[in-house]
Formats: sequence, C-alpha cells, structure tokens
Amino acid sequence: MSESKQHTIVTGGAGFLGSHLCERLLKEGHRVTCLDNLLTGSTDNIAHLIGNEDFQFYKFDVTNYIYIEGKVDNILHFASPASPIDYLEHPIHTLKVGSMGTHKALGLAKEKGARFLIASTSEVYGDPLVHPQKEEYWGNVNPVGPRGVYDEAKRFAEAITMAYHRAHGIDTKIVRIFNTYGPRMRVKDGRALPNFISQAICGEDVTVYGDGTQTRSFCFVTDLVDGIHRLLNSDLHEPVNIGNPNEVTIGEVAEEVIRMVGSKSRIVHRPLPADDPKVRQPDIEKAREKLGWEPRVSREEGLKKTIEYFRRRLKE
Ligand code: UDP
Repeated sequence: MSESKQHTIVTGGAGFLGSHLCERLLKEGHRVTCLDNLLTGSTDNIAHLIGNEDFQFYKFDVTNYIYIEGKVDNILHFASPASPIDYLEHPIHTLKVGSMGTHKALGLAKEKGARFLIASTSEVYGDPLVHPQKEEYWGNVNPVGPRGVYDEAKRFAEAITMAYHRAHGIDTKIVRIFNTYGPRMRVKDGRALPNFISQAICGEDVTVYGDGTQTRSFCFVTDLVDGIHRLLNSDLHEPVNIGNPNEVTIGEVAEEVIRMVGSKSRIVHRPLPADDPKVRQPDIEKAREKLGWEPRVSREEGLKKTIEYFRRRLKE
C-alpha cells in the first residue's frame, strides 16, 4: 500500500452511488476506505473491489465517532437512505446520518485537514416553485411532511458544511444530485426506474403514481460520478447541481421502459405519494461553466445498460 497515494474515505461506499465512486477513485489512483453500515447498501456492490490492496471496507455506522489512522486527503460523505420508500421506512436513521453523520465526517475532515464533499440532493428544492432549479433557489420544502426527514437532513448537512468551511476553513464542496440511475440500483429500491424496469421484465403491471404528468430528469451514473470527480478537484465551495437536464414525464418514461424491455406489461395508476414534486429539472449552467461538465450518456443508452443489469439480477 503506497503512502504517496491520496487516501479517500467514502461513507456509504457500498451503496449505488458510493460503490461507483469507490471504483472511479481507485481508477484515479486513490487508496479508498469505504465505510457503510449496510442499511441500504450491500457488499454485492463492492465484492469485485475486495482483494484490491488499495481498497478497505469497514461495516460502520458513521453517526458514531469515526477514527481513522494515518493521513486522509479526501472525505466523500455519501451515507444516507436515498429512495423515498427507504427514508419513509428509516426516518430517524435518515435524519441522524444527515445531521450527526455529517457532523462526524466534518470532524474527521477538520482533524485530518482533508477535503470534504457532501452528497446533497435536488430534494433541498422540495416541490419547486422555480423551474428549472438554479443553485440560488432556496426551495419549497414541507419540514413536517413524510419527505421532510430527508429534505431537512440534507438542508442541515449543507448548512453545517458551509459552517465548517467558514468557521474552520475546511475545503468543502456540496453536490446537489438530481435523479440518477444505472447498474447497482436495488431491484426493490422503490424508485421509478427500478420499479418500472423490474415490473416490465417480470411482465407485471407498471405502477405510475398519479396521472404521470409529473416530471423528472434522469442522469446516468457514470456521468454523475464524472461531475462529482470534477467538483472534488475544483475550488468551488457553494452548491453545484449535477444532473441531466433532459426532462421527461413519468408517464413517458414508463412507456419508454416497456418498449425497450419489449414487455407486454400495462400501465396502472396508483395514488401520488404526499409532497411528491410536480416538476424537477436541474439548471446545470454552473457545472458547465465552472467544471466543464455536462452529461454525455443518452437515456436510451443508459436505460439499455440498466435494463441489462436488472435482467441479470432478476435471473439470480
Ligand atoms: N413513481 C411512480 N411509480 C413508481 C415509483 C415512483 O410513478 O413505481 C413516481 C414518483 O411518484 C415520482 C417519480 O416517479 O413522481 C420519481 O420517483 P422516485 O421515487 O424515483 O424519486 P423522487 O424523484 O420522487 O425522489
């Protein structure tokens, strides 16, 4: 194990995004320590990295004091339930990892003089009254609704991150992640694309919530990871949106998935969950201008890869 390599901690590193990040950082020549309590993450996502001498995994809940020996150059705080059904099932954990977990991870950054990057979310904009969403928009969040546990935890996480930057001079970054998809999402994740793809493959009814006119903008995971990598290496401290601005209605996406899978499934409508945002689309001018980043993978190409992954998982 080389000490000259950058040592990077990824909390939530066994999750969907975290595992793709660990992989990318190892490719970039980092030594990576992955911390995950496996509440929604899985060792399946990192099984291929075990045995790499630059990769270490610890099953650990980062709401507790984090002790790491030796130097740490970067901390990427990605631990959190992130699907609406997960944070409804684990509301207290969601609040704790966003607040106490972020506090502990920032404490480690302060102790080690490390760079810190927090995974924030488009949920900080709530059910937005400004469209598309620019970073300057402060949002429309219901603090006491069922999604409030996630939205407010992430808003707190952004606030404490800026406080550590301003008060302690920590080199911090905030990425606001919009809907992302790709291989390693869980089949039972509950979000729109995993549901639609697994329902279409299994020939089950495809469940569109509400009338399907609500919109989202889906980013393929490799594009997202590239944006995060650029942000980590930038000198930006204010939040940056990373997402794909290609907006689509949920009804259209359901039809697209059924067509691409070649399925006979039909669309059925179910009640819209409380506080479900009616529209969502990132304004990515800041990322374009300051990071030279924009997404490259089309929905067609991304969905094809994701569908292949789900077909494999559903056969197991
Ligand atoms: N959705 C749906 N059917 C499903 C799962 C989700 O119609 O089986 C809708 C959900 O109500 C929302 C959109 O798809 O309007 C995206 O939901 P998701 O859970 O993926 O994430 P969100 O963007 O709401 O955080």
